[in-house]
Amino acid sequence: MIIHTSGKAHLPGCTHIDPADIQPPRYGWVLAPSPGAWRRLTPSSPLRATQGNTERAAVSRCESCDATQ
Ligand SMILES: [Zn+2]
Repeated sequence: MIIHTSGKAHLPGCTHIDPADIQPPRYGWVLAPSPGAWRRLTPSSPLRATQGNTERAAVSRCESCDATQ
């Protein structure tokens, strides 16, 4: 799961993200999110990045990525 500066979470392969851009400090990410983590992330229950920029926390889901879930 890839977390943008805006707090929006994307999934690998999202067409909104240039893979070459996925680096700190712009992005943080979680390589192996727990099952259901995508569905659970909300502003009151953000998902914190574990790699890259670990200050990043996801509070919303990319709509394109969400449509694939
Ligand atoms: Zn996306």
